[in-house]
Amino acid sequence: MGFLHGKRALVTGILSQRSIAWGIANAMHREGAQLAFTYVEEKLKDRVDEAATAFGSNIVLKCDVTKDAEIEGLFTDLGKHWDGFDILIHSIGFAPREALAGEFLDGLTRENFAIAHDISSYSLAAMAKAARPLMKGRGGSILTLTYLGAERALANYNVMGLAKASLEANVRYLAYNLGPEGTRVNAISAGPIKTLAASGIANFRKMLDHVEENAPLRRSVTIEEVGNAAAFLCSDLASGITGEVTYVDAGYNTLGMTGI
Ligand code: NAD
Repeated sequence: MGFLHGKRALVTGILSQRSIAWGIANAMHREGAQLAFTYVEEKLKDRVDEAATAFGSNIVLKCDVTKDAEIEGLFTDLGKHWDGFDILIHSIGFAPREALAGEFLDGLTRENFAIAHDISSYSLAAMAKAARPLMKGRGGSILTLTYLGAERALANYNVMGLAKASLEANVRYLAYNLGPEGTRVNAISAGPIKTLAASGIANFRKMLDHVEENAPLRRSVTIEEVGNAAAFLCSDLASGITGEVTYVDAGYNTLGMTGI
């Protein structure tokens, strides 16, 4: 029996089989969780239906996190399938492409800043708030995905780094708020992985090469490795862990000046 047997998990953020959320769904399915999924717009629903079929689920619900009514509606609809659930995976991030290239200040506008923070950080707290009645008192777990650009200045990551810093603070405040009712909140800081979101970052291939040459493991990580860590963090095996950022990055974040 898998270590997530009996758990119900809502997985957001599947866009393709390369999505980190796909790796998470795969690991959670293997460990016995029942899954439900979200899609962001009608033209992308087929892709999420494909995931649901692959992982034995028939719950596929719409949610564009820029719309308050869709966040509310998601949990109203989910409540018609499940009287409660245990795991919320927030694998959602976006910043306009022109903000993810070149100099930070060149791509900086009030609008780009607002979009990046709204979709990539505010949505975590908004979903946690709307999910609260269904998650309360079950010993459940919320997990989001962040990146090292939250803490270090990295080329091209720019306003997304600010949004991820906000997201990581969000994890700590949510963990403190929801801890008394038994819900844990954590983040995984994943190393670079070639996904559709990542391809929006200028020179992403160079980032991958740099990690593969320098990380302690001398390679990048896979969605399977992130998925396995996510399954652990959302399981009862991690019942004492909350408010944390866990790195799944082949050790890259531990480096200082190397290779000299
Ligand atoms: P992806 O493109 O497969 O997934 C991004 C997801 O965000 C998509 O499913 C997309 O539909 C969703 N999304 C965007 N706008 C949305 C909206 N308005 N409403 C609802 N959903 C919306 O890419 P990914 O790399 O799997 O990204 C998942 C998460 O992992 C993101 O938060 C990303 O920042 C983070 N992350 C990625 C990497 C990487 O290198 N790929 C590294 C660290 C963290």
